[in-house]
Amino acid sequence: MREVVLAVDIGGTKTVVALADRGDVLLDTASAPTPALFGPDAVVRTVVDLAAELLARSPGVRALGAGIGTAGVVDVGAGSIVSATDTFTDWAGTPLAALLRTGLVGLLATPGIVHVQNDVDAHAAGEYLHGAASGADSALVVTVGTGVGAGIILGGRPLRGARHVAGEIAHVPTPGAGHLRCPCGRFGHLEALGSGVGMYRHYLSLGGEPVVIDARGIAERAHAGDPVACRAVEDSAAAVGRAIASAVTILDPERVVITGGVARIGDLWWDAVRRSFHAEVIDVLQQVPLVPGRLGDDAPLRGAAASAWDVIEGRP
Ligand SMILES: [Zn+2]
Repeated sequence: MREVVLAVDIGGTKTVVALADRGDVLLDTASAPTPALFGPDAVVRTVVDLAAELLARSPGVRALGAGIGTAGVVDVGAGSIVSATDTFTDWAGTPLAALLRTGLVGLLATPGIVHVQNDVDAHAAGEYLHGAASGADSALVVTVGTGVGAGIILGGRPLRGARHVAGEIAHVPTPGAGHLRCPCGRFGHLEALGSGVGMYRHYLSLGGEPVVIDARGIAERAHAGDPVACRAVEDSAAAVGRAIASAVTILDPERVVITGGVARIGDLWWDAVRRSFHAEVIDVLQQVPLVPGRLGDDAPLRGAAASAWDVIEGRP
């Protein structure tokens, strides 16, 4: 029997489950919309159903455990959700590891191991082990998509924080974002301007036509020469660059990896991120590399798989 783990990525819109081997290579994947508004039991059911589907079409494999990356602030030790935005109904307080341990009975080898962490931390682990941050002793991995997040690796280990919040760069006060409300309810945080949603809201606040529905659409308008779209992309990217400058000044990581859907919209965005970063950091930090992620959507799955193998192998 080939030994594998289940790697799970629970995002706000989509849940992906994969089978991964000992090198965290993804052998097969299945996905479904995340029923985020239908409560934790529905989300758990989706994961279990996808796992059952994958294992049913992969005879000869034995799943030893599951590694989960999920939206929300996660207490890794307890395997539970500490807090979450209202895109997930009743997600805060969910004992996710315990629910999945029960749900996956019969699918995981006995005793099955379930490891749960924040999805951006899983993403950072993936890029650190197999992608754009590999070989670095420390890294800051920033995801910029619908929302903004960061994972911090120091000395090869993820930094979780005393209250499980380390890396939540979304809520760093950021100059230029004061007119926009963050999903946490406060004004002026990075996510309010630097995320894809933030870029769109800023575009509207500048008088942009409300026909463009996302950051990619704004970027297309910007490339076509629309000055309002250009300004929205540049301001949003500059906010990301400033927040990264703050984080880099505090952490001094060997490398910064920037990834996610907004980070794929092109040079206009990247140039503005780099400009604002270099305008803010002191001389000795000017050489810190800002590089794009390499693994895309595979990163959180491969990072989650690695964490499951660590538990199975008894690695700290
Ligand atoms: Zn906030």
